[in-house]
Amino acid sequence: MSREQQVVAGARRAFETGRSRCLEHRIRQLQNLQRFLTERRHDIAQALKKDLNKSEVAVQLYDTLGLEEEIGLAVRKLKEWAAPRPVEKNLLTMSDTIYVKAEPLGVILIIGAWNYPWAVTLQPLVGAIAAGNAAVIKPSEVCVHTAQVMDELLPLYLDKELYPVVTGGVAETQELLRQKFDHIFYTGNSSVGKLIMTAAAEHLTRVTLELGGKSPCYIDSKCDISIACRRVAWGKFTNCGQTCIAPDYILCEPALQQRLIQELQKAIKEFYTDDPKTCPDYGRIINQRHFKRIMSMMQDSTIAVGGDNNEEECFIAPTVLRDVKPDAKVMQEEIFGPLLPILTVNSLDDAIQFINKGEKPLALYVFSDNNEVIKKMRDETSSGGLLVNDCLVHFSVTSLPFGGVGNSGMGCYHGKHTFDQLSHLRGCLIRALKMEGMNNMRYPPHTAKKLDWARFFVLKKMNFGWARRLLVLATFVAVVAIVVQKYGMV
Ligand code: NAD
Repeated sequence: MSREQQVVAGARRAFETGRSRCLEHRIRQLQNLQRFLTERRHDIAQALKKDLNKSEVAVQLYDTLGLEEEIGLAVRKLKEWAAPRPVEKNLLTMSDTIYVKAEPLGVILIIGAWNYPWAVTLQPLVGAIAAGNAAVIKPSEVCVHTAQVMDELLPLYLDKELYPVVTGGVAETQELLRQKFDHIFYTGNSSVGKLIMTAAAEHLTRVTLELGGKSPCYIDSKCDISIACRRVAWGKFTNCGQTCIAPDYILCEPALQQRLIQELQKAIKEFYTDDPKTCPDYGRIINQRHFKRIMSMMQDSTIAVGGDNNEEECFIAPTVLRDVKPDAKVMQEEIFGPLLPILTVNSLDDAIQFINKGEKPLALYVFSDNNEVIKKMRDETSSGGLLVNDCLVHFSVTSLPFGGVGNSGMGCYHGKHTFDQLSHLRGCLIRALKMEGMNNMRYPPHTAKKLDWARFFVLKKMNFGWARRLLVLATFVAVVAIVVQKYGMV
């Protein structure tokens, strides 16, 4: 038996003890997770400094603050989320008790990515614990130091049989994927996403795929260009552009390009000084493989701002590329680095057409003061999320479902959405062994008359307020009485 097999079998045994279902146990584990984040803040920050040159403040701002919010929300709302959720009834089910009950799925596999390793690995875990599951946690091996901290310290805080950590690379992940899980929650690139889905299909396991892609950013000439550029520069160059929802490229009309370049340059200087290499708030590319990948993307484009780099330090300065052609290297795949190409289009319609020719993106950004432009962009395109006049912040709204569509992923999470995503939403109908006469309309022999009654009971909708409900109930009782009298259905 491989180590991965043993871990998964152990998590399944722990799940079968039933302790993860207990609401008090779930809340205790969530509180322990919060305690881990508080007590180990320094270890977490140190690891991310080594992996991505993130400052301690940036780690809290972008990796752990949202996580703490999610934990707090789950602890406060758990009873409500786990309680039966009554649903609408029709005339046939009026006297029944009908509700949706979220039940644990079983053992979840969480596979994380390296760019915001705490956020993307532990945020699904919050939902997995809240929903009463066991979970095998597989951090990305690419963020070496963070994976080590997760492996060594998390088990000191959590029930380690229910929530074990497995470290390792592709071989270990593939061995995990051969095991049977009840849900796989994967964050990473779309090519591996396909492998995950193929492996899941073997066991008919559900998946959530949080993928990436090229998120477009359309800037309309009718908006405050200076503010727009500050927000785009922040969205793009935070974490060195290694953000799944970073604006990948800008679309604008030709007359706007030069102004954008000037304002972007100003914002870059303001945020990261004249020398981003020595700025404590500017990160690094995760490793030399990605450094080379990003550098090779620049080859056939013109640099308007930045371009400095240093392979040994995995440093690439915030870089803006001008007059980029749709067939340029940088436009062939998600950049996931600090390069910001500007492509010019002749109109809003051209921009929409360009966006729709590509895969459905994870995020779509629009900067405009014109509601007609915003509405047209929203109605004539598709993307995982839409954000107008800012970047990234929709990720932090726990009430919004976060996830992709098409090539950018499937399923969603954050807040209650994670709880629902990692639960089986079981439809429950509880009926008394009474009023058997009502059922005669569905029992053979089938007749046209019975069908008429069935149509009446099924298709009559009750969109009434409380005051009129009584009246409907009275009518219902009268109709039942007539049916019973006419067909002797008692
Ligand atoms: P990565 O290389 O760390 O891979 C992610 C996980 O997949 C790792 O745990 C790794 O072990 C596993 N893996 C890699 N290759 C595998 C294989 N052949 N078989 C099985 N498992 C394998 O991360 P990455 O893919 O470089 O992450 C960057 C991508 O993730 C970008 O496309 C980014 O947009 C996307 N992303 C999406 C979100 C989101 O929330 N939608 C968040 C972060 C990153």
